[in-house]
Amino acid sequence: MNADDARPPADALALIAVNRPVFGRFHYTVPDAARDTLRVGCRVSVPFGHAESTGVCVGFDDTAPSEAGALKPIHHVIDAEPLFTAEILELAEWMARYYLCPLGEVLASFLPSSVARTQRAVATVSLDPDRGDPEATAADRERRAPKQAALLRYLAKTDQMPLKTLRGEDVFSDGAYRALLEQGWIRVLRGPATAALPTRPAGTGDGTETPLELTPEQREAVDAIDGAANTFAPFLLHGVTGSGKTEVYLQAIARRIDAGEQAIVLVPEIALTPQTVDRFRRRFRSVAVLHSALTPRERSDAWLAIRRGEVDVTIGPRSAVLAPCPRLGILVVDEEHEPTFKQQNAPRYHARDIAVKRAHQTGVPVVLGSATPSIESYHNASTDRYRLLRLPERVSGRSLPSITVVDLASDSAFKRKSSIVGQTLQDALSETLVRGEQALLFLNRRGFHTVNVCRDCSTPVRCPNCDLTMTFHKGRNLLACHACEHRMRPPTRCPECQSGEAMSFYGLGTERVEEIVAACFPDARIERMDSDTMTKPESYRDVLARFRAREIDVLVGTQMIAKGLHFPGVTLVGVISADTALGLADFRAAERTFQLLTQVAGRAGRGDAPGRVIVQTLDPGHYAITAAQSQDFEGFAAREIGMRERYGLPPFMRLLRITLHATDEAKVRNAARACADLLEATRTADVQVLGPAPAPIFKLKNRYRFHALVKAPTPAGIQRAFAALHESPSTWRRGVSMQLDVDPQGLA
Ligand code: ADP
Ligand code: ZN
Ligand code: ZN
Repeated sequence: MNADDARPPADALALIAVNRPVFGRFHYTVPDAARDTLRVGCRVSVPFGHAESTGVCVGFDDTAPSEAGALKPIHHVIDAEPLFTAEILELAEWMARYYLCPLGEVLASFLPSSVARTQRAVATVSLDPDRGDPEATAADRERRAPKQAALLRYLAKTDQMPLKTLRGEDVFSDGAYRALLEQGWIRVLRGPATAALPTRPAGTGDGTETPLELTPEQREAVDAIDGAANTFAPFLLHGVTGSGKTEVYLQAIARRIDAGEQAIVLVPEIALTPQTVDRFRRRFRSVAVLHSALTPRERSDAWLAIRRGEVDVTIGPRSAVLAPCPRLGILVVDEEHEPTFKQQNAPRYHARDIAVKRAHQTGVPVVLGSATPSIESYHNASTDRYRLLRLPERVSGRSLPSITVVDLASDSAFKRKSSIVGQTLQDALSETLVRGEQALLFLNRRGFHTVNVCRDCSTPVRCPNCDLTMTFHKGRNLLACHACEHRMRPPTRCPECQSGEAMSFYGLGTERVEEIVAACFPDARIERMDSDTMTKPESYRDVLARFRAREIDVLVGTQMIAKGLHFPGVTLVGVISADTALGLADFRAAERTFQLLTQVAGRAGRGDAPGRVIVQTLDPGHYAITAAQSQDFEGFAAREIGMRERYGLPPFMRLLRITLHATDEAKVRNAARACADLLEATRTADVQVLGPAPAPIFKLKNRYRFHALVKAPTPAGIQRAFAALHESPSTWRRGVSMQLDVDPQGLA
């Protein structure tokens, strides 16, 4: 492949990865108009089939393959400068292979989505920043060619602008313009004027906060990371909540920035980690935050500023892992165990794994931080593939909160009134409120009661589109499906047996918890935080601000409140039910439960008052719960790793989950049978195939689903199974969609 920024050699054909679900790179001719602007890494618009498609130029080639037929020309070049560096393109190609996804789709998933469709093409002009110092040249020409000097100075001060606008300016002269164009000072871009060049860095911080004096453990961690500068070194920073991991990231990054390098920091979700983002902004002067609320234009501006090396620290969710920093010196993945780092649609990549891959490719350190490392990362650390750094204690000696496990089955309030806020938790709440302290109540389910069942036949109300029961939302008197968001009024008659007896409700939800607490403590100020109440981006910040200001006593919420928040006033955390996750048909259920309990518990006692955690469960003996109670990560991990090895699960085996789905049940059944035959052929001693079988949620959003699981010890085995499907004539899956998920998080 040609070097970054390379212009196309004369007569060369461009290789384009189109943003379509087709594998391969396609040859196009380069019209003269595009020859000046087209570089490897630029987006282009090309004819594809009978339509127009966007794509990315990934290289040049002398000749087209003989079967290519008549070549078509590129329509236009979208970007004035490449969005992707050669390094990023190489990584993207690796992702395409590993995640079994077309390269064009991989690239598109990272792009600022401002791809102009068919806008009227405008010619825009800008100074070529690589040509030299415009001021020096202008000074040089002051006498000889004053008009050129004036035009140069003018262009040096302005953004990319339409040629038409420039022509209207006083400084414009035809002769000077043509001379500068011929000398390569001016670049002309023909295309939609969307990807204009910003002159300021896309994000800023104030950079006024001074670093903290490190504890000895923190210093050791920072020194170890610093000692690995400019070499590939993966670190797992295992530090209990409140142990000062963020300070380690900040200071390790500061050293790279002092050395003229850049950093990428991945966080699970920007909206849920405002405090972390604020700390980076306070510490560093040049920070770009790639949050999802950016407009396409802002996003593409930020991307270009990063690409030009104007940004020291890029913070973002998973897609920031490919931020095109030209002098990347370190990557950090905060809360590396979080499932949100895995993208849920194609390409189904795991940003943590890409971060490690990128660090390897670039030859820089990568720091994965967590209080509850993923089993994969911990296993890598135990087998010396990663270096383990530990922060076993909270900063300034604050103790971790004590965890009390309450067996709901023997709790008096639960037995007497089936109250889901048990007596122990009620007493603790009462004490907390009397002392004027704050409490968080956590439940992984929104809504009022989980299900709505018939009193006669006990049949729950199911979603008409999915194999799932509907959740009752009392506030709006609605039943809602949490998979497809289908809504309906609670029925007065049982849809199953037609009984006219009123339907009854059981189960639990955040709304119900809020109601019980309000009944028990009428004077308490209670607020609920879940995706039903947090419908606007501001509402989240607003509630957090009021909680911080102690205008709220009790905050009830879903996992939204479990993460990363730091509230000194919180001394009690109640987990309404630890069992909701354990019931899932999911090999990560125990891991998720342990993580959740530990994270939630970490929200308590972050101030001077000691913290207390009460966990309610119907399964008090489960090892995820007992290990969380004794804060024994190592014990939990050892048991879980043994279990994974016994059952041939990650990290011991690679998994590929193939899901087939269609609106027509017969079609998907037939496709599943054909798929089984194709996979059968790839079965070897190493590669196991399970299924296809009906998926646990057989009908979802009106589509019938089958799934199969391929297990192999290496990615090569997975790729072999994929090749069997991919290389077969695709007639067997006509009318059926196929999803490929490499390293799936769950199997539902
Ligand atoms: P973590 O990221 O591990 O949860 P944080 O970095 O958020 O921990 O640190 C928890 C608290 O301790 C924060 O309020 C932070 O400002 C403070 N802190 C961290 N390191 C130090 C230090 N070396 N000295 C004093 N306070 C510190
Ligand atoms: Zn549904
Ligand atoms: Zn009934």
